[in-house]
Amino acid sequence: MASANTPDYNKVLYAPLAEIDPEVQNIVDKEIWRQFTGLELIASENLTSRATMEANGSILTNKYSEGLPSARYYGGNEYIDELEVLCRKRALEAFNLDPAKWGVNVQPYSGSTANFAALTALIQPNDRLMGLGLPDGGHLTHGYYTAKKKMTASSIYFQSFPYAITPDTNLVDYDGLAAQAKIFKPRLIICGASAYPRDWDYARLKAIAEKEGAWLMADIAHTSGLIAAQELNNPFEYCDVVSTTTHKTLRGPRAGMIFFKKDTEATKDLEKRVNDAVFPACQGGPHNNTIAAVATALRQVSDPTWRSYAKQVISNARTLASTLMEHGYKLQTGGTDNHLILWDLRPLGLTGSKVEKVCDLMGITINKNAVSGDSSAQVPGGIRLGTAAVTSRDMKEEDIKAIANFLHRAIQVSLVLQKEAGNKLLKDFVRVATTEQEGKVGHGQVKQLRREVREFAMKWPLPGVDVWNLKEPAGFMEHL
Ligand code: PLP
Repeated sequence: MASANTPDYNKVLYAPLAEIDPEVQNIVDKEIWRQFTGLELIASENLTSRATMEANGSILTNKYSEGLPSARYYGGNEYIDELEVLCRKRALEAFNLDPAKWGVNVQPYSGSTANFAALTALIQPNDRLMGLGLPDGGHLTHGYYTAKKKMTASSIYFQSFPYAITPDTNLVDYDGLAAQAKIFKPRLIICGASAYPRDWDYARLKAIAEKEGAWLMADIAHTSGLIAAQELNNPFEYCDVVSTTTHKTLRGPRAGMIFFKKDTEATKDLEKRVNDAVFPACQGGPHNNTIAAVATALRQVSDPTWRSYAKQVISNARTLASTLMEHGYKLQTGGTDNHLILWDLRPLGLTGSKVEKVCDLMGITINKNAVSGDSSAQVPGGIRLGTAAVTSRDMKEEDIKAIANFLHRAIQVSLVLQKEAGNKLLKDFVRVATTEQEGKVGHGQVKQLRREVREFAMKWPLPGVDVWNLKEPAGFMEHL
């Protein structure tokens, strides 16, 4: 509350969002309604907890604290120090790490900045690195470039070379990586991916890295929540550095972390290198509200119920995979070990963009994705689906089967729409999908599906929101 003497120019500091900025409040309300009335299947997304959002929205956002606990460039950091020490402790606990052997920096603003800081710590400008190629499931920050352009800092400031998946199995081609590494002589090998439905052989990767004298780094952004639950192989057994985002399967706020080994001759100075790389090399002041939210999320990871959540995410992904395969659809690698699946739409004569569009109109959020052997990166032949967010809305195997059925119907409608469009152009496909036309049935079928998805989605809670008292906000627009 303001005081009686608060001047006019400061009164604004005490007013709630809805009162002081109804425009932004309305956008927030529309986004809440979109999340409530739709199904989130984007594999990199999840729904964080109410407590995490409270910490993220806290007054800690006000504080500058460049540096590390007990070594700051600003005063007044006694509680911020306590927070960062607590967050680091919880991060190590979440992954069962011995603080004598591993350390962690919890200041990265996101996964991409964490990765660039890790590269800055491990190798010199223009050194060579290898990562899984983007079209094979790797991430932009693992060295991605095209024939015409170095796309990210990881290929602009370093020489990068991709390794690949084997065309017939679609599994990582470890033999190929070993052979290429022998010639390319990378100083760093990065494993981990954004669109790879199988687990990693870290022992094999370590052997390859060791042979060539390279560092081994795992980017577990997608799977960190499942690794913390010990549901997937443990990269910490073999890697020198492990980076992650905190907002995917780990279910925290948007941020990143870098874990570094520190107990061997080779790794004894990694702590300083990583810390110096995060600040001052790549970032400024840490976002303390976010670090508080990461700490809160990590506390949940150490709770005994975490493992049940992780098991359910995986079981849901397997159910989604098996139900789609029962319908005769082709999935890359024929299933999944983790939270995501890659669906190859090419045998159906459909593109990822078209199915993504139809799903969007229905209120199911997914993303188009390259599948192995795609001839054009511009027209991906598949879609990527993940089950973390729907698991966080309480859905289990039977509900996932209902979702798989919606997706099956989305494919059938897409085929109808493609026919009704009369050609293969996306713009004509979108036109027939979104407008009523004499003698055409596809649009009506999409509308019907939207009604059913909406009714289904509104049965489930949404963390952080009292959905049972929610009303559709002004200005919310269905796409149809
Ligand atoms: N690493 C991997 C494997 C990712 O999938 C992603 C994001 O999707 C990132 C890093 C980047 O994370 P952010 O978007 O937080 O920068």
